[in-house]
Amino acid sequence: MQAFIYNSNPGRVIFGEGTLSRLPAEVERLGLSRVLVLATPAQEASAQQLSKEIGGRSAGVFSEARMHTPVDVTERALAVVNELGIDGLVAVGGGSTTGLAKALALRTDLPQIVAPTTYAGSEMTPILGETKEGRKVTQSSPKILPEVVIYDVELTLTLPVGQSVTSGMNAVAHSVEALYTKEANPLISTLAERSITAFAQGLPGIVANPNDREARAQALYGAWLGGICLGSVGMALHHKLCHTLGGMFDLPHAETHTAVLPHAVAYNTSAAPAAMRKVIRAMEEGGQPVDDAASGLYDLAKSLGATLALRDLGMPESGIETATRAALANPYWNPRPLEEAGIRELLTAAWRGERP
Ligand code: NAD
Repeated sequence: MQAFIYNSNPGRVIFGEGTLSRLPAEVERLGLSRVLVLATPAQEASAQQLSKEIGGRSAGVFSEARMHTPVDVTERALAVVNELGIDGLVAVGGGSTTGLAKALALRTDLPQIVAPTTYAGSEMTPILGETKEGRKVTQSSPKILPEVVIYDVELTLTLPVGQSVTSGMNAVAHSVEALYTKEANPLISTLAERSITAFAQGLPGIVANPNDREARAQALYGAWLGGICLGSVGMALHHKLCHTLGGMFDLPHAETHTAVLPHAVAYNTSAAPAAMRKVIRAMEEGGQPVDDAASGLYDLAKSLGATLALRDLGMPESGIETATRAALANPYWNPRPLEEAGIRELLTAAWRGERP
């Protein structure tokens, strides 16, 4: 028997194809009459279109969302919220846009409706990472968790293949760490395995044909489950390392997760054998037979065309030493305790992009 504590997050999820057409009804259902539609500059046109579809209940669009939720952008958006008397937030985009909605909700407690367009999974978590003066600070609060999430497979069809792969592997990382975290529990482990299976099936299909709706649906389903995992249990070495690396060398979020994952898994393999068996089983179930979790994840990412060397993402070689020291400066729980030589070896292999 495995003793456990399980916490669930509240929320309403609508999943399918063409589901975004339900947005006006969801706005009405929450009793909102002046929502602000949020987006990145690249997705402004979709946000304008959405605002039109919401009609009289939309008060406008704010399309300045940026990666890592910079506080100055949030403050500009907050001024718009106050000026327009906004009573609800609609976010259409990836983790960056969801991050802006969450940052506003933290400050105002306004209800959020999020329509994700990547596999980041942020929409299912009460976690927010914000940057101010180059420092990223992460916090958690029930106010941050979106009230309604509309998953529409159609929104993901335009996500470029390369980004689909790294965003998907980022979500796989949530599920893998959920299997060996100290807060692991049977329900979340079941979702984690199912999520890994969904990506093992979906991602090769997307690479073969980005318009394959069945493959896109699998990946989006996997993203939802991976997001639940991330929002329900604590993460470990992989996420902490990626956080450190991203902050120190300004590395791209999903790409960094993709490159580090096989090595973090290799580091933890001997300390979490049951979790690794589940990763192997989940990949096999998804049509990717492997005999080792770490090299299996590496091979999957490589076969999908992902960049697997941190040096190719812009990390300097000297960063191996700095990041090793930073990782050891603030120790945290991990199935295998943090050991200097092991962390250095992990980072060296990830920097070179070697197969674990
Ligand atoms: P993103 O939101 O930054 O999107 C990257 C780019 O792709 C943007 O220009 C965006 O407009 C564009 N894009 C997104 N979806 C598209 C689509 N379907 N078609 C065409 N273009 C599209 O990328 P992301 O990886 O989703 O999010 C990364 C951010 O999310 C990071 O800041 C990360 O810290 C955060 N995050 C937070 C959590 C959490 O729980 N708090 C979880 C995961 C990620």
